[in-house]
Amino acid sequence: MIVDRTGRRFRNLRVSLTAACNYACTYCVEDGKRLLRARDELSAAELAHGVELLMEVAGIEKLRITGGEPLVTPKFDDFLTAVMAMPLSDVSFTTNGQLLADKVDLLARCGLKRVNVSLDTLHPERFRQIARGGDLDSVLHGIERCLAAGIRVKLNMVPLKTGNADQILPMLDYALERGIELRFIELMRMGHLAHSAAFDRDFLGMEDLLDIIGARYRYNRTDAAWDSTAVRFDVRGGDDAVLGQFGVIANESEPFCSTCTRLRLSADGYLHGCLSSSNRHAVSDLLRGPREDAVAGLEAALWRAMGDKQDVAFTGGATVMKLIGG
Ligand code: SAM
Repeated sequence: MIVDRTGRRFRNLRVSLTAACNYACTYCVEDGKRLLRARDELSAAELAHGVELLMEVAGIEKLRITGGEPLVTPKFDDFLTAVMAMPLSDVSFTTNGQLLADKVDLLARCGLKRVNVSLDTLHPERFRQIARGGDLDSVLHGIERCLAAGIRVKLNMVPLKTGNADQILPMLDYALERGIELRFIELMRMGHLAHSAAFDRDFLGMEDLLDIIGARYRYNRTDAAWDSTAVRFDVRGGDDAVLGQFGVIANESEPFCSTCTRLRLSADGYLHGCLSSSNRHAVSDLLRGPREDAVAGLEAALWRAMGDKQDVAFTGGATVMKLIGG
């Protein structure tokens, strides 16, 4: 088993199915630049084989499918079908929701229990400004279809001081009305934001966020799993009844590196042990070669990836989230 000196091991795998995306969110890619579709991306079968091997060699238990945008690639259906047949304790996926509505039947048929939808605003024009594409109604329709099919939805919102701070309460209202947990992801110094004044201008941390929420709702902090990235809160109504929950992925305000169990596999076949490190470890050839070589090679790559983890806090990284899926 690959365990580091602080007791961390890999349990959660995020697989980016493709680097392609139908959005170009301002905080994710610079100047609307749509990064080139990654050449030599692994096939659905090769990525699924990677998951199987990483379950064996790294002890992966949970899987999140991500991207790029996982629903823009035809690989999604085959990959989902393959991983849903594996003995994983949890499979989920993260999408911008644009193409979600048409996939709900497949998700239900495969037995997928939950979906995370990234949504930064309920304001149609602001939506197009932040995503530089897409259409809000399609996303909302996809969310409603999931809920109607009994698939649990979580919403991920990146609060930005100059972009959507006034949407924090409308988004929370929307989520609470539908029994959806809203999770605020603190802006991360990644890609073009790693060394940019735009990060300082737009970063809205947990303290400010709680002030905004506290102006309308009472909330109290609740327990979260030891390796959870989210700080979780109950929202209380006038009679102290719990109205729902929200979470904060407080990368900056309450770093969680010391309990990080995440491992990432990119569509072009690299393992990433840490979002804050530009190190990556090529495994495409291993996934295409004989099993024995793959097991030995992956073990070596996993030790290196474990060594890339930060001890305490995320310090920023040149890696663009779009390439490895957050
Ligand atoms: N396309 C899918 C989606 O929209 O969920 C999956 C990939 S996307 C890169 C995953 C998540 O990363 C999204 O919730 C997005 O908002 C978030 N993200 C991208 N860049 C970020 C940054 N610099 N800081 C915080 N979150 C970021």
